Amino acid sequence: MRNTKTRAIRLGGLVVGGGAPVMVQSMTNTDTRDVDATLAQIGRLAARGCEAVRLAVPDEAAAKALRAIRAGTDLPLIADIHFDYRLAVAALEAGLEGLRINPGNIGPSEHVDKVVDAAKAHRAVIRIGVNSGSLEKPLLKRFGGPCPEALVQSALGHVRLLERRGFYDTKISLKSSSVLDTIASYRLLSAACDYPLHIGVTEAGGLLRGTVKSSVGLGILLHEGIGDTLRVSLTADPVEEVTVAWEILRALGLRSRGPEIISCPTCGRTEIDLFALARAVEDRLAQSTAAIKVAVMGCVVNGPGEAREADLGLAGGRDKGIIFRKGEVIRSVKGQEALLAAFMEELQTLLNEKGQP
Ligand code: SF4
Repeated sequence: MRNTKTRAIRLGGLVVGGGAPVMVQSMTNTDTRDVDATLAQIGRLAARGCEAVRLAVPDEAAAKALRAIRAGTDLPLIADIHFDYRLAVAALEAGLEGLRINPGNIGPSEHVDKVVDAAKAHRAVIRIGVNSGSLEKPLLKRFGGPCPEALVQSALGHVRLLERRGFYDTKISLKSSSVLDTIASYRLLSAACDYPLHIGVTEAGGLLRGTVKSSVGLGILLHEGIGDTLRVSLTADPVEEVTVAWEILRALGLRSRGPEIISCPTCGRTEIDLFALARAVEDRLAQSTAAIKVAVMGCVVNGPGEAREADLGLAGGRDKGIIFRKGEVIRSVKGQEALLAAFMEELQTLLNEKGQP
């Protein structure tokens, strides 16, 4: 594990770095100019456990929408800006808590100074986000391509521009679509500075491939103590990014949120439609924040064991199932439909006891 803590910075009401819990982020994919659609998506992200949201601000019209978006949600918001320092200043004036901008890309030093001074005045943080696809030409020439060393040098170069102006509320990300380069880059960066690190594997792919790449890359880094905030990038509904991020944190024992659902893969012993049962339970609990453990198992070989460990469990048999509460058999039900109905009833009772809808 990393043995030095990163510097703690504040993103709105949240602490990032300094040993604070690893924060879950995502990014909207709505048109930022469409305030209603953007707020609706932020609401869905928040309901799934997203703790900070980044929005693309490509032009003045998008910047103009930020004030209304800021007023419509409690989540810290980060404006993603390229090249135009005026958009960055406008985002800060609209009350956004963070910027994702590379000071080396916004022109002369007076422009950098204006952004930094506005960030200081508004107590906002700046994320330097270096992407292997957009590295500076001299670095590409020096290192022969977008390698981890080049990514780190690029990030530290941008950071220096902020430090020159006395700005240290910075976090850094290094994005590569290669899992191995991502790991190598963050390891190097983590050894080179104590700024909080935002980790992610960029352009990771669709739900399946992106989840695998992100879980491997981010899992290894987080297990080494590297990473203060994360985004899982998926070519999918951003809400899925949040779900995957939380499952990565849960799998590593770093943080947990909502129910833990255990279900077996099924095998030749399974004599009920377990996929349908598991899907129904997953759907029912998708929005829940209850800290409960639910097991849905296909047979009486391993099923009762797992089901007993759970707050609520089900072990299938031949066209029937046994339902457990905290290790005690409470019901034995015949027939798939009756079993599903009975299990959902018991699940509702458990949720009611936890004060959950
Ligand atoms: Fe097969 Fe039973 Fe294990 Fe499920 S719990 S995979 S049905 S042995």
